Amino acid sequence: MLGLMQDWPLTVDKIADHAARWHAGREVVTRRVEDGRVERTTYGAIHTRAKQLSHALREAGIGAGDRVATLGWNTSRHMEAWYGIMGVGAVCHTLNPRLHPEQLAYIINHAEDRLVLVDLTFVPLLAAVIEHCPTVTGVVVMTDAGHMPPAEKLGKLPRAISFEDWISGRPADTPWGGFDENTACGLCYTSGTTGNPKGVLYSHRSNFIHTLLTMQADVMGASIRDTILAVVPMFHANAWGIAFSGPASGAKLVMPGARLDGASIHELLETEGVTFSAAVPTVWQGLLQHLRATHGRITTLKRVVIGGSACPESLIRTFNDDYGVEVLHAWGMTETSPLGTVGSPTPEVEALPFDQQVPWRLKQGRAPVGVELTLKDEGGRELPHDGVTPGRLMVKGAIVAAAYFRGEGGDILDGDGWFDTGDMATIDPQGFMQITDRAKDVIKSGGEWISSIDIENIAVGHPKVELAGAIGVKHPKWDERPLLLVKLLPGETATREEILSWMESRVAKWQLPDEVLFVDHIPLGATGKIDKKVLRARYQDYQLPTVGAAA
Ligand code: AMP
Repeated sequence: MLGLMQDWPLTVDKIADHAARWHAGREVVTRRVEDGRVERTTYGAIHTRAKQLSHALREAGIGAGDRVATLGWNTSRHMEAWYGIMGVGAVCHTLNPRLHPEQLAYIINHAEDRLVLVDLTFVPLLAAVIEHCPTVTGVVVMTDAGHMPPAEKLGKLPRAISFEDWISGRPADTPWGGFDENTACGLCYTSGTTGNPKGVLYSHRSNFIHTLLTMQADVMGASIRDTILAVVPMFHANAWGIAFSGPASGAKLVMPGARLDGASIHELLETEGVTFSAAVPTVWQGLLQHLRATHGRITTLKRVVIGGSACPESLIRTFNDDYGVEVLHAWGMTETSPLGTVGSPTPEVEALPFDQQVPWRLKQGRAPVGVELTLKDEGGRELPHDGVTPGRLMVKGAIVAAAYFRGEGGDILDGDGWFDTGDMATIDPQGFMQITDRAKDVIKSGGEWISSIDIENIAVGHPKVELAGAIGVKHPKWDERPLLLVKLLPGETATREEILSWMESRVAKWQLPDEVLFVDHIPLGATGKIDKKVLRARYQDYQLPTVGAAA
């Protein structure tokens, strides 16, 4: 027997409609990309302008299922683009500007993006790859006519127009929604897998459910009484859902634009009265460094969610002891929309003195309703949740990917429908999950992926190199940085500079190894692949030469 409740498709345009109807006057504050000045708008105005953008899209022939890309910072214009694209059933493809240009071109082509909405900062990057992206027929620069770059800077960008010119004067009554809640609405590529980046294709339903899930009190708990600083980028796993949960809850939203340094973040925290924020550890390290140097104070911020890579103990303690801010350590992935677990304390943990809470707060946390977690061994058998037995972390739920876009990577669920995260973890009897290691062969630096395999392939392309192995080594600022081990061909000699300059033009600058060590032997596993476990164990206490510079 079926229930007798209304069929009300869970589509994200309803979130923008809700905000416009019930929180129309609530502010959205943006640090402008053009000049760093702060400007203000409201959910009501964003709704109107997003509808005008939908009209422009329709006129450009964009309809259901078409991919429209954005290459931008967190700004109110970027939000208008999201809702304008998603509202008409098109798919908003958030491009990550930190990708190497070749990878950027790869994903634009793989997605077959029709239009790209780009921030001024990234115009040169887009102009450099556009020739290789034949599906892109138009470019919208997210600025006004007065700030449009001169023609020579726009290069071969097709039909480039400013965002303001593109939407101005258009009707704001373009219909939204009216499609199935399982319709695709967002596309975000992850490079946290082996091989080419893979597309995670969110549906309206999964994003709507993720929004409700993150609004739970023990997750992010967005409230109308909050002012949220959305530091985590909209191009990285949906800004952890904040561009949805902000308007859904009616919280005031603060968008930091292109300036994520400690001083700029601190200024916004204080001038806007921010109560809640979320970002990767590196951003918070920058803020704390700035506060120490300037004897700065934090007056309104109450809690921060830190995730994307492991949160160092010093961050949890300094925020608590020196600034009275609660850190919630979270874990998630692009494939989980992204929120998987949050380390909100249980009453038993909260009853402990803070020092004794720290070991719990360092764990990645517990699963909110809507996320299922388990641990499995290599043979697919479930492992005990005893807090000591590590296993492969498996996840299931309405916000978890079932496949990558265009079937890349094949079948990604096991026989019981679990998605293998590639993370190794323990789960304790209180339900706290803790990441202990990574089974996937990638390095995470400042919240962004570096493919060890790409680095190795490029290094072995050097005429003097026989074998190369890249691993992530602990780094206080970036969490991990790549260390490259090189075995030279018999009789050859080379310097680290020689190897690094060979790699320079082939990977993004921030992906270059911090150090190259020449070794006589690189251990191989049973299948002939480099044994990363052995290498990671051997170099676990290795001090990179760049560590001193970061302190
Ligand atoms: P991404 O898809 O780029 O967001 O990366 C997801 C991956 O980042 C996870 O599978 C983990 O390997 C890593 N990660 C995310 N959050 C944490 C955390 N709190 N601690 C350790 N690793 C994390």
